[in-house]
Amino acid sequence: MTIVDTPERRQLRELTRAFVTKEVLPYLDDWERAGEVPRSLHETAAKIGLLGVGFAESVGGSGGDLLDSILVTEEVIRSGGSSGLIAALFTHGIALPHMVASRDDGLIDRYVRPTLAGTMIGALAITEPDGGSDVAGIRTCARRDGDHYVVNGSKTYITSGVRSDFVTTAVCTDFPGSGALSLLVIEKGTPGFTVGRRLEKLGWHCSDTAELSFVDVRVPVTNRIGPEDTGFLAIMQQFATERLSLATQAYATAQRCVELATRWCRDRSTFGRPLASRQLVRHRLAEMHTRAEAARAYVHDVAERVAAGEPVVTEVAMAKNVAVAACDFVVDAALQLHGGFGYLRDAEVERHYRDARILGIGGGTTEIMNEIIAKGMGL
Ligand SMILES: Cc1cc2nc3c(=O)[nH]c(=O)nc-3n(C[C@H](O)[C@H](O)[C@H](O)COP(=O)(O)OP(=O)(O)OC[C@H]3O[C@@H](n4cnc5c(N)ncnc54)[C@H](O)[C@@H]3O)c2cc1C
Repeated sequence: MTIVDTPERRQLRELTRAFVTKEVLPYLDDWERAGEVPRSLHETAAKIGLLGVGFAESVGGSGGDLLDSILVTEEVIRSGGSSGLIAALFTHGIALPHMVASRDDGLIDRYVRPTLAGTMIGALAITEPDGGSDVAGIRTCARRDGDHYVVNGSKTYITSGVRSDFVTTAVCTDFPGSGALSLLVIEKGTPGFTVGRRLEKLGWHCSDTAELSFVDVRVPVTNRIGPEDTGFLAIMQQFATERLSLATQAYATAQRCVELATRWCRDRSTFGRPLASRQLVRHRLAEMHTRAEAARAYVHDVAERVAAGEPVVTEVAMAKNVAVAACDFVVDAALQLHGGFGYLRDAEVERHYRDARILGIGGGTTEIMNEIIAKGMGL
């Protein structure tokens, strides 16, 4: 099974590839060293309609569905971009969907449209210093006070948290750890809301990651997404697209590394012959290619089912784990085939090797996916 190719999708691939070639590749290394991508990149991506893919035109998007978003993610990475770039430039893919689903015109006008136009940056804050896997255990609290909530607590590991203008924040609207969650949009600059350390990481260097602190932050009730205490369900419903995006980043990274390693093994000679002439090397490349292709086919299959509205929570978890396992195997093998050069910052595989490690942690770890799969098996 593969995502059906249409003339529009072929055009979308070409648009994405041209964008990466012209607007990303000459600068990516600088952004990796700077620790963030420039705001202007969001505007450029918005102008050509790339930022809004997967969001309806009625909320300021460019149309298309989950499958189109997957194609964009795939093509960004296969054109030489990276999963870190996806995390930084497409953070709105996790920050906005709850607002869109709530159909709250006020929130859509204030946050969704400007973000899809590239003039605002949003982030999603669920994880707390005490833990990320146990979403129901969130301790950041929002106490109602008239037409405001008063928020206290902290969040960590928040993608685009340094640059974001607003943060879709999961808060507890009952006692801490009660599981009664709501989502509040909290604007940068609100008194008591501070961005702490910019966190340094193994990979995803061009994607800024922050700690956030909330001390008596007054947030208007109108900034709540959907009814009170419905946050947990809203978060779980949107996890499917986040997990499929991470699965896509994983198989696309694997595909890119197969291409890089194949090229390298054709060009590089040892003991008087190209590496690719050795059976051992050819078989290693064949295994890498097989795992990447199998992961791609399965992720596409599950994505088609999600797009068709099927309840495939277990399959989404399996797709993430299958793609992450393929990616982990391939990036390691690709780096090894590059020898010493693979370990240098100059080598693209070096970046993919580092970037790949987060894919089995973010959006629900491999172990949490296994819990979901076990539940789906009735265990
Ligand atoms: C670069 C980066 C970007 C991120 N971006 C965001 C973001 O934008 N927004 C956001 O909210 N979060 C973000 N996260 C946080 C990420 O989602 C969490 O790190 C992840 O969910 C795991 O939570 P934790 O780190 O608290 O680990 P923990 O929950 O403390 O888990 C630690 C280990 O224990 C395992 N474990 C936990 N519970 C069980 C169990 N019941 N059975 C077996 N094993 C278990 C886990 O699998 C893991 O291996 C980001 C993290 C990183 C590193």
